[in-house]
Amino acid sequence: MTIARAYAHYNRATSRQRQAIAEAMRVLLEEDLQRGERGSFECRACGGLQPLTGSVEYDDELRFCHTCATAFELARIERRVRTGAEYALGRRQDAASVN
Ligand SMILES: [Zn+2]
Repeated sequence: MTIARAYAHYNRATSRQRQAIAEAMRVLLEEDLQRGERGSFECRACGGLQPLTGSVEYDDELRFCHTCATAFELARIERRVRTGAEYALGRRQDAASVN
């Protein structure tokens, strides 16, 4: 398999797609702020203790902080990952390889 073929399914997000993700995430954040969402949780992607405000729950117990959810949405639209679980696993592997 050539490198070009390996990346055939990798699509860079257009600026319009990036804007759509940023806009959707901003709306989510504002809704949480209006509801007075409080508290924190352990993000399943970065592992940090993060505010619930602006976070996104994808599946049972698979909640990403605002920053990770934004990165995941971009990765998904670029077809680098398919599911939240896959993204979380990749992030943990990245973190493990740094240490
Ligand atoms: Zn996170």
